[in-house]
Amino acid sequence: MSRVVEHLAELTGCRDRDLVDVTLVGALKDLLRPHAVAVYRCVGEPGAQRWLTRARLGPGDITPAADPAWTPLEQLPELGSRPERLACWKQQRALTVAGMPALAYFPLVGEREPLGVLELATRQPLARPEMRLVESILRIYRNFAGLLDAGERDPLTGLLNRKTFDENFLRTVLREPPPGQATTVPEARRAPGLGEPWLGLIDIDHFKRVNDRCGHLIGDEVLLLMARLMRSSFRLQDHLYRFGGEEFVVLMHCGSGEDAAAAFERLRANVAGYAFPQVGRITVSVGFTALRVGDAPSQAFERADRAVYYAKQNGRNQVQHHAALVAAGRLAEAARGSDVELF
Ligand code: GH3
Ligand code: MG
Ligand code: MG
Repeated sequence: MSRVVEHLAELTGCRDRDLVDVTLVGALKDLLRPHAVAVYRCVGEPGAQRWLTRARLGPGDITPAADPAWTPLEQLPELGSRPERLACWKQQRALTVAGMPALAYFPLVGEREPLGVLELATRQPLARPEMRLVESILRIYRNFAGLLDAGERDPLTGLLNRKTFDENFLRTVLREPPPGQATTVPEARRAPGLGEPWLGLIDIDHFKRVNDRCGHLIGDEVLLLMARLMRSSFRLQDHLYRFGGEEFVVLMHCGSGEDAAAAFERLRANVAGYAFPQVGRITVSVGFTALRVGDAPSQAFERADRAVYYAKQNGRNQVQHHAALVAAGRLAEAARGSDVELF
């Protein structure tokens, strides 16, 4: 029993969402000695969802493996390719499959929605008390993951918050796997298809007028709809943040400045073409920049901010690339008096 308590203490001591899944599979490996244990998330738009491996410990593994968060969706297995996992996910109840090894599937449920499936492969089928132990640990996992999500997300839009941005920034630049995890795609860091990291800043044009004309409640509704338009305009693996107010940030991997511009242009056009209830048309100004090795979050943010400022000065409702503005002589490389030059 004390080993269970120790594992629970470790689980609820995590401050990093990714580490919770890693700790969960580590705890179950130690408590039940399974052949393999894994947490899979169901990701993607409804109808085209896939399995993302969040943490998997196979026979002889010391460090759990995981799919990097930026893995292109089409490289992940389709839901239907793992029928038992899919059945557990759809029915939202534990399922066991006899065989060698014996398999057990448990639904992972978040505060608001089903998240994925825990899969255990054991030599002998799990006995009743073992099933109950797993189910109890998953209840604690659910409560705790909900608490962590609340600290990572903006309560209005559900997008990631600014604090999470600072924490994720280095991982995005360096493409490091989350702490404590190996990657299932070791070559991913150098894979040419994934491209370079980019940061975009999106600021709603004349948002004060929306509040003034329609009131704060309608203004909040616009922010919610903006988050929805962002989710449908960017890819699943792009990180979307609300920085407070009417400023949003996107961290993504993209092959070139043209590809990044096309992604931000898609959002700009989707927003400009959307009829916001009671408000009508709204536009956004976007500035973006490549992330450089050695960048501090504030430095990259400032470059994107200066590109947004340029867009605001030049008619709004447009996407501007910081490096292109500098190359064209429209923007100085560093803001006078504000950038601290350390090198
Ligand atoms: P610009 O085109 O230059 O960006 O003009 P703007 O009116 O959008 O200017 P600015 O970015 O300075 O103003 C942002 C406004 O956003 C100020 C504030 O009234 C409003 N705002 C900030 N946070 C919230 C919020 O959570 N809800 C609502 N409804 N409004 C907010
Ligand atoms: Mg603003
Ligand atoms: Mg604004």
